[in-house]
Amino acid sequence: MAKSSVLGYPRIGGNREWKKALEGFWAGKLTEEAFENELRDIRIGHWRKQQEQGIDIIPVGDFSHYDQVLDTATMFGIVPARFGYGGGPVRPSLYYGIARGTKEAAASEMTKWFNTNYHYIVPEFDGAQPSLTENKPLLAYREAKEALGIEGRPVLIGPLTFVKLSKGYKTSEIDAWIDRLLPLYIQVLAELAQEGVAWVQIDEPVLVTHVNEEDIVRLNRIYGELASAVPSLSIMLQTYFESVEYYGDIVALPVAGIGLDFVHGLEGNLAAIRQHGFPADKVLGAGIIDGRGIWKAQLREKLALVGELEEIVASDRLIVQTSCSLLHVPVTVQSETKLPAELRNALAFADEKLVELVVLTKAVNGGVLSVEQELGVSERDIETLHRSDARNRTTVRAAVDAISVREPNRSKPFAERHAEQQAKWQLPVFPTTTIGSFPQTAEVRKARQSWRKGEWNNKQYESFIHDQIDVWIGLQEEIGLDVLVHGEFERTDMVEFFGEKLAGFAFTQFGWVQSYGSRCVKPPIIYGDVAFEEAMTVEETRYAQAKTSRPVKGMLTGPITIMNWSFVREDISREQIAYQLAYALRQEVEALESAGIGMIQVDEPAVREGLPLKQKDQAQYLDWAVKAFRMTTCTAQPTTQIHTHMCYCEFHDMIDSIEAMDADVISIETSRSHGELIHSFEENTYGLGIGLGVYDIHSPRVPSVDEMTGMIDRALRVLDPKLFWINPDCGLKTRGLEETVASLRNMVEATRISRDKYAVNV
Ligand code: GLN
Ligand code: ZN
Repeated sequence: MAKSSVLGYPRIGGNREWKKALEGFWAGKLTEEAFENELRDIRIGHWRKQQEQGIDIIPVGDFSHYDQVLDTATMFGIVPARFGYGGGPVRPSLYYGIARGTKEAAASEMTKWFNTNYHYIVPEFDGAQPSLTENKPLLAYREAKEALGIEGRPVLIGPLTFVKLSKGYKTSEIDAWIDRLLPLYIQVLAELAQEGVAWVQIDEPVLVTHVNEEDIVRLNRIYGELASAVPSLSIMLQTYFESVEYYGDIVALPVAGIGLDFVHGLEGNLAAIRQHGFPADKVLGAGIIDGRGIWKAQLREKLALVGELEEIVASDRLIVQTSCSLLHVPVTVQSETKLPAELRNALAFADEKLVELVVLTKAVNGGVLSVEQELGVSERDIETLHRSDARNRTTVRAAVDAISVREPNRSKPFAERHAEQQAKWQLPVFPTTTIGSFPQTAEVRKARQSWRKGEWNNKQYESFIHDQIDVWIGLQEEIGLDVLVHGEFERTDMVEFFGEKLAGFAFTQFGWVQSYGSRCVKPPIIYGDVAFEEAMTVEETRYAQAKTSRPVKGMLTGPITIMNWSFVREDISREQIAYQLAYALRQEVEALESAGIGMIQVDEPAVREGLPLKQKDQAQYLDWAVKAFRMTTCTAQPTTQIHTHMCYCEFHDMIDSIEAMDADVISIETSRSHGELIHSFEENTYGLGIGLGVYDIHSPRVPSVDEMTGMIDRALRVLDPKLFWINPDCGLKTRGLEETVASLRNMVEATRISRDKYAVNV
């Protein structure tokens, strides 16, 4: 008989009770004891749900007080040297210190967990003296067993993945670090075996990316040692998010089971298993139910897939499981009472996926009539949504098809546009500008809430927004900026704002997922064809432009960013969705132009987030992402200056794609990446307008004039001064008013000095 298994369950709780507990504890509103009790209740509640649904294999140790990578590091006593840790248990104050920083020591870096929107804390190895501080999976196992009689399956992050995701050591030291950690892993596993645990799940998601032949040697060593040190314990070596590299070597590793993703790595994993088969002595964990997507599964297709696997792997060696941890989806559709029925019925969040797993497993095991009915129900619900008007906007479809076969080129090449734009705008050398938003003070947030709740009417709200714009147009002129913005006071979020105004989007009430620590996001759902309905940004932009003789940039979020920060439908490709968004946003570009706006910024901070894990797929993604941006902007007049903005530092390996977007001006982050980006311009020239962020907006600190002239000098060693702009790193909405004004004044002063200094050369 096949079994069902979950690889991890969301920790935040249906009402974000986990987040509230963490924040209550940080604020000193909960004692440590009350906090631990609260978290224990949440944890047990999650196990109970899985038990009640009838999941055969329930994970334990997947829960966390913040982040599972930080848990692993602190379990092994790996704490950055600056925290002055001297061994022993890592208390909550230290644990949260590493995650969030303390007065004395900066927080550890945080980075994206593979290609998800989850961010983990990067362990720092330098100076660490690893030792086992507490056996966390063992404690979790005991707790589940005592509370509910569950024989849980402890989950750990595997040694190779853990070491590869960490920093603070040289590449040549990787084996030495594995050697230091292996005895600790062995100790954890030995204690689990002693307790009577039969199986553990060891996650090695790096196996779908970043591996080479040396890693295969390492894996053999790691799993060979673990298996021989703790022979009574069976290891499920778990991968996810893509198909594995080196399939033949991986399935031959000395472990009892291999977990593969048959959703996001379907093609590669299926091809590999068809071609090479699967070892008869191992268990296959088949990731069949999408752990990352929000849609109901096509259960009948899934059943057929399992059927195919059963020809290769005997049913009693088959586990039907989620493709990855359910951490990446919201908790339950049950709470969503306001969604259109056709959409709601087609959704499956974590709890609904538990049901799907159980139904599918029953069906695999020779299901009964009721299973047949359930298969039919999900099929019907998916069909209904497919046939809905929202998914079949024929005019949009036809228009997008028509424009996507054309080359999305501006009517003139950059050199000509640049000359015409210079003649029109007469901007000084090193024009100064900002990225779009100004401080969203408590007053601004309160006003928006009053309006949303209906306490303020449209008129009141509009006049409040206008007042804010007035203040900031005045301030920007007085500070001496050259290209102004209206300040984005009407927007809470740069994706939500557009999603609410475009057709094809829906917003959940409780569809939160953890982004990092206690921070949760509620991504919009793109469930239908996206369509432009009416102008979205023209009113505020035109208002601002009327108040000044300097140019005001219109401010849009780009198609790729909107897509990458949303949950998207799966019946059409992401490329198609991007083009639909591009077509809708192009209509907004045109509306702004008709309203007399001559500079339009299309922000694309999230381009990199959609980058496929496998290098071989990346070029194709970048091609259509660039195309979508160009589709958005290509109809603009040559004199209309198209700006774009990107933040986050890792753009150095995609400069060519950025240039191919053909934006007249890009503003890009550099201050946090410590010049890495500037360095990459030494190898690749950049031939369009570019503004490198001269100060980091993520800190309340007011940067000095000297610091900024230093950044400018450095950038001008590699960039053409004729095309150079000066701006902060990113939008200023999270900053306070005073520090923002002070920083911008310094930026303008730094610009004045630089203009004098470089005038002869420009
Ligand atoms: N225009 C946006 C702002 O200034 C850009 C935000 C971003 O890059 N994340 O807030
Ligand atoms: Zn930014």
